[in-house]
Amino acid sequence: MKKTVKILIILVVFVIISVIIINVILRNKQTVVCIDAGHGGNDVGAYLDKRYEKEDTLKIAKLIKQYLEEQDIKVILTRDSDEAVSLGKRCKIANKKLADVFVSIHRNSSEDAQANGIEIWTNSQKANDDIELAENILKELEKTEIQSNRGIKNGSIKGENTNYYVLNNTNMPSCLIELGFISNEEDNKLLDENIEAYAKAIANGILEKLEVEE
Ligand SMILES: [Zn+2]
Repeated sequence: MKKTVKILIILVVFVIISVIIINVILRNKQTVVCIDAGHGGNDVGAYLDKRYEKEDTLKIAKLIKQYLEEQDIKVILTRDSDEAVSLGKRCKIANKKLADVFVSIHRNSSEDAQANGIEIWTNSQKANDDIELAENILKELEKTEIQSNRGIKNGSIKGENTNYYVLNNTNMPSCLIELGFISNEEDNKLLDENIEAYAKAIANGILEKLEVEE
């Protein structure tokens, strides 16, 4: 056999074995979900009197983590204490850990104290994947006690062509949940009474999205 043919055969065998190994590794990769508790540290987020968005989001994020871990899902939090984390770092954490899903938790605020309800934002550039994730979560949240469903929104508050940083800079399906208005007493009351149900609903919505993908 010619030397070049031998080398070619060795190369082909090497490539085939590599592809098989990579496939096995990818198939065995544990599902990873990244939950992003909005704001933190000096950045308190929206607030009403002494109630801060950064505290509500952390509480919910920790509960979602607990429920997903009970289902053997690996969960990464972009922060697990009251600390300031830049938007860039939040995305880096999710991308580096190869998260399968990224969900950012926020609370809404308005000068209109009557404004209420839950809405989920998706990235207008990668809409299909994001919308599917958002729809699953919203469908589950609707089964809980919420004041109103404001629906799924594309882009950001600045318009459909401007996306939220964390949705624009994460490589996996992602969405940003505004879990009621901190400026609305009834939304706050509902959140406090149903915080576990809300967290469980979000976890279930994420699980549904992951099952579709597998
Ligand atoms: Zn926020």
